[in-house]
Amino acid sequence: MSSILNCPVCDHPFDEGDAKSTAYPQAGTAGFGPMPRSIHFCPECQAGFITTVINQEELDRYYQQGRYWDQSFNRLSIHTHPGQFVLAQSRWDIIKNQMSAGECSILDIGAGQAFLGWIAAKDPSVSVERYCAVESDDNLRASVQKTWSAGAIDAKLSLKESLDHVEGRYDLIVLSHILEHISRPQEFLRQALSFLTGDGLLFIDVPNQDYRFKPDVFPHLLFFDIMSLTRLIQHSGLSVLSINTYGPSITQKLKRPGAMERTLERCVYRFRKILPSAALQGFFSGHFKVNRCQEDGLWLRALARR
Ligand SMILES: [Zn+2]
Repeated sequence: MSSILNCPVCDHPFDEGDAKSTAYPQAGTAGFGPMPRSIHFCPECQAGFITTVINQEELDRYYQQGRYWDQSFNRLSIHTHPGQFVLAQSRWDIIKNQMSAGECSILDIGAGQAFLGWIAAKDPSVSVERYCAVESDDNLRASVQKTWSAGAIDAKLSLKESLDHVEGRYDLIVLSHILEHISRPQEFLRQALSFLTGDGLLFIDVPNQDYRFKPDVFPHLLFFDIMSLTRLIQHSGLSVLSINTYGPSITQKLKRPGAMERTLERCVYRFRKILPSAALQGFFSGHFKVNRCQEDGLWLRALARR
């Protein structure tokens, strides 16, 4: 017996039996509640979503207790996380073209290692006055604090465990690999945008339909393409300035990299702590094609303004 589903991205109601669906790729996560079995696609906006109810408290614990990020570091840098660092650099390169000159403030929701704030604060073409990083992982927040304290950065850093503790308004809001973890994106975006200044900028980065190539997509709850992400942004009252896919093409991703390439990546990663920053930056940017804007790329990145 099929039931009526409501798309969490565009509100479109549709009959479950009439819609496209696919299996939810998963390897099984021990100790977690019922796992999603399938992804349903909205016939109106093409967003993919799960219908299994996930225990939010259990998910929050998963993100908070180092199970998601797994490690803590004394100081974070391109030498500890070269891949994350070059990705943050490539995101900032897209954002900064739309930033106006003068002082600016940044709210980075789900900041991870907070490399984006670090890179922005060190960029002489802008003047970052405040950077607020929202990150639920306790270890990561402690590592970010240590990194900034040792970094002689003028921008004022504030670290928050959740969006509920954020105050004030920001010129730029960053949602990097966050929206795919949210079951009610409209509500979440409304709360996030309440911190955006009148002419502020929103940057979103999400995986581009990663159920197509990842063996395990847990804990992703939403699956976007260009159309569905555009609909979500427009629904929140913003205009899309740009939306494109970046990174290696999914077709290339499906092909296993050659033995030489895998060995080289392992070697560079292993010796990352002693290699010069510029060499790491060059290698990992090229290896992960972080700046490449091409059709069917791995990541979907959008910039929007009110
Ligand atoms: Zn929809």
